[in-house]
Amino acid sequence: MIFLDAASTTPVRREVLEAMWPYLSGEFGNPSSHHSLGEAAASALADARSAVAKVLDCRAGEITFTSGGTEADNLAVKGIALARQAADPSLNRVVISAVEHPAVEESARYLERVHGFTVDVVPVDGDGLVTVEALGAVLRRETALVSIMYANNEVGTVQPVADLARAAHALHIPFHTDAVQAAGWLPLDVKALGVDALSLSGHKLGAPKGSGVLFTKGRLRLEPLIHGGGQERGRRSGTENVAGAVAVATALNLSHAEAAAASADVAALRDNFIAAVREAVPGVVLTGHPSRRLPSVASFCFPGTSGESVLLELERLGVVCSSGSACAAGSDAPSSVLLALGISPETAQTAVRFSFTSAVTAAELEHAAAAVAAAVGRVRNLVNHPK
Ligand code: PLP
Repeated sequence: MIFLDAASTTPVRREVLEAMWPYLSGEFGNPSSHHSLGEAAASALADARSAVAKVLDCRAGEITFTSGGTEADNLAVKGIALARQAADPSLNRVVISAVEHPAVEESARYLERVHGFTVDVVPVDGDGLVTVEALGAVLRRETALVSIMYANNEVGTVQPVADLARAAHALHIPFHTDAVQAAGWLPLDVKALGVDALSLSGHKLGAPKGSGVLFTKGRLRLEPLIHGGGQERGRRSGTENVAGAVAVATALNLSHAEAAAASADVAALRDNFIAAVREAVPGVVLTGHPSRRLPSVASFCFPGTSGESVLLELERLGVVCSSGSACAAGSDAPSSVLLALGISPETAQTAVRFSFTSAVTAAELEHAAAAVAAAVGRVRNLVNHPK
């Protein structure tokens, strides 16, 4: 089986498993306990925090471990907006882009539904890009937070985060970015990016599902979502997932060290794959930006098919991929991300996303491109000549 669905999740890396294993077995202490087992756990947690901070070029105290990307996004969007509104009740708007992951979009909608915020949605262009001008047009004095993702999970478009953050800062508005898909491929230096908050998810990087990170800058206040014993400096109560924190730190470190080389290699393989699919499949549409895209994502629409049928055919041919976001899987509605790019609902129903780990090979992608041609041909045939 050729696994081309790495944007949905990745297997746990051996080095990660080895690093976390002691904290699931012999060193099983609670970091809040005042005995040697607890102290060992607290020290592992502190080391994990410092390791993450080193990759992000921030201070350890600016790192909060979470249960994954979804929680990190919720904590950033709700936590920052609510804390700012508590300090200044006139701050009652949040800005998101039209292509955010549901973890950000639904957090913003929650603020609207329950706390009376207005959500301003910045449109994207046909390639999925947010421009500084488009962002500028929706910023207001009442904007409590801007949240725009670093790289899109369905089409791979990479946003000009540093420029967008600068535009928000010109009006003293904090800027959060969901870097869940960017991690492992793009630079994550929060100072160079100029962001005030950044979310990461462990399981996209070779750590287990249910591990994640939120960076929040300096004294930026966060209203916690989970109340209890005051762990994570009161930002996220609950006995810490020490093994998860060690895992996400190890995975982030490894993937960060490999990112530059992996990005160049995988981008070249991706470009060959895109060229091969375009040559083999008449009428195919590449979705997302032609060049400002993740090395790891090639996403297409195959007019005259249904994306789900192409997926089934591909799986029969030994290639596993997805029809877009795993989170929207099972829903019949066309992807809101593709609609935001101006793609028609009919064409959006024909979407297939191929996403790669850094271990992908040229031979696998050659096989996959041939399988795509065969699968699309077969589905088009069935659509045109139903039995
Ligand atoms: N943000 C983006 C861009 C994602 O792609 C995902 C997962 O697919 C998430 C957030 C959610 O992360 P998690 O699965 O760790 O909750």
